[in-house]
Amino acid sequence: MALMSAKKSEVSAPRQVAILGSTGSVGSQTIDIIRRNRNQYEVTALTARRNVEELAVQAKEFKPSFIALAEPDGYQELKNSLSGYDIEIAVGSEAVAEAAQRPAEWVMAAIVGAAGLKPTLAAVERGAIVAFANKECLVCAGELMMNEIKRQGATLLPVDSEHNAIFQVFDFERREGIEKLILTASGGPFRDWDTQAMGQASPAQAVAHPNWDMGAKISVDSATMMNKGLEVIEAYHLFGLPEDKIDVVVHPQSVIHSMVAYIDGSVLAQMGTPDMRTPIAYSLAYPERLETPCDRLDWNEMKTLTFEAPDPGRFPALRIAREVLRAGGSAPIVMNAANEIAVANFLDGRIGFLQIAATVEKALETFPHRQPETLDDVHLLDSEARTLTHDVVATHF
Ligand code: MG
Repeated sequence: MALMSAKKSEVSAPRQVAILGSTGSVGSQTIDIIRRNRNQYEVTALTARRNVEELAVQAKEFKPSFIALAEPDGYQELKNSLSGYDIEIAVGSEAVAEAAQRPAEWVMAAIVGAAGLKPTLAAVERGAIVAFANKECLVCAGELMMNEIKRQGATLLPVDSEHNAIFQVFDFERREGIEKLILTASGGPFRDWDTQAMGQASPAQAVAHPNWDMGAKISVDSATMMNKGLEVIEAYHLFGLPEDKIDVVVHPQSVIHSMVAYIDGSVLAQMGTPDMRTPIAYSLAYPERLETPCDRLDWNEMKTLTFEAPDPGRFPALRIAREVLRAGGSAPIVMNAANEIAVANFLDGRIGFLQIAATVEKALETFPHRQPETLDDVHLLDSEARTLTHDVVATHF
């Protein structure tokens, strides 16, 4: 099984790493862990969408041989700030994919959204160890991605905290003993808000996540619980269990990051304080362990762990995602694209919070079902779904 086949890394030679999306939330936390373990890692490539300033700072510190900026506008500024450095600079989405093709043993795939598809697949295609922090890749192109991983013997390490937790307690050698997966959800900032208050929620309130420090898009996804919906689909592809064997439980303390239930009644959980640097360090050092500065659980301070069922009335996104997973084909692509557009519209103040899920449902109803065969098909469906969602927003809200 490809998931289990990572070679043991030599302690002496630094592991060569490339970070796709190095200026984002997961990317910069990966940089933080590498900075603390400088002699064990050599950064060979970095990419960013448009954060020229941060990319330049990282490039000066780690001196990769190649960096790529997805949006070409910042090229001159980047070039100027790195004059005198022996670093190859390229721009555009092809350049980002090229960064993934350069020979680094380990690749962090942390580009947010569908833009991460091509570069992530490029890393998989050359059999790299890929730390997967882009859930949209698996949601939109899960079958293509997993087939390619098996074909190339690439190693996939899930970074998403829930899937990383499951990965750590999943018995890959005895899958028949596994009864179900239990994904935990914090419930987000609106867990105990009523529907009316949720309808009035501002972008700032939606982005203020109680436990996790994350990017804006994923924080809103957490508030709608679409994040958990995407994660159910992600888990389906990563671990090969059917939709009805992937449960979701709301656990507001975010101490248990997820669980695997076995047929004998055992439940194995992975726990820790909510800090993405733990799953990042796990995947960075895999199969070894790396020390992190993350806060440790304080067993004397931790009074209660609570659990509750998600409320399908206030959080319809979870139901939508399950329907989409059962429908397959273009449905997950449409859901993901419509959600991205709806969230962007919400963050810009054009639609209300409850209209995010309504927009996604409308887009799914309207879009004719199709079956993508290639990554190009996925991209085409994705862009058509985005256009359609813009129309949905313009027409209905
Ligand atoms: Mg997660």
